[in-house]
Amino acid sequence: MSVTALIGLGGNLGDVRSRLDAAIGTLGSLPGIEVTSCSRFYRTPPWGNLEQPDFVNAAIAVETSLSAHALLDALLATERAFGRVRDGERWGPRTLDLDLLAYGDAVIDDERLAVPHPRIAERAFVLLPLADIAPDTVLPGQGRVADLLTAVDAAECFPLA
Ligand code: ATP
Ligand code: CA
Ligand code: CA
Repeated sequence: MSVTALIGLGGNLGDVRSRLDAAIGTLGSLPGIEVTSCSRFYRTPPWGNLEQPDFVNAAIAVETSLSAHALLDALLATERAFGRVRDGERWGPRTLDLDLLAYGDAVIDDERLAVPHPRIAERAFVLLPLADIAPDTVLPGQGRVADLLTAVDAAECFPLA
């Protein structure tokens, strides 16, 4: 059985564009994951902790035979492979962040995984790329992606040429 999952990508250290491209390639090469669409890349201001460089953000859709938790493990392993170090600082600078935004229409909330990702509706940097690939997707408990996008301030987010 295959499920459509939506994944948010971001980073703000070093050559993020190349790294996001490489990370998408790596994810697509993993058993049980097929990348089916990719958003534009956006330059976005930092969120939560404002004293850090701008981010580059994107979103992809994948078809996967993995469980949600196995997919999360694949995302966390890929972050580590691309130099992600967790130093305890929340929302700090990072080489690569891969968030599982949605897994079909599943609702999951346990100690390792919350799906849909609970902060999508407040984040232009997530909704803007997501609207490129899945504008009509309804996120359980949050709403339709294109509708959510109209309610956030995306004025400081720009697609990269
Ligand atoms: P935010 O979740 O607000 O975007 P963050 O991406 O900086 O913050 P991380 O440090 O990357 O947070 O992740 C911390 C933990 O969050 C992960 O180890 C993972 O177990 C957990 N987590 C819960 N739900 C999700 C999800 N939907 N996608 C990715 N990680 C999740
Ligand atoms: Ca994140
Ligand atoms: Ca994360």
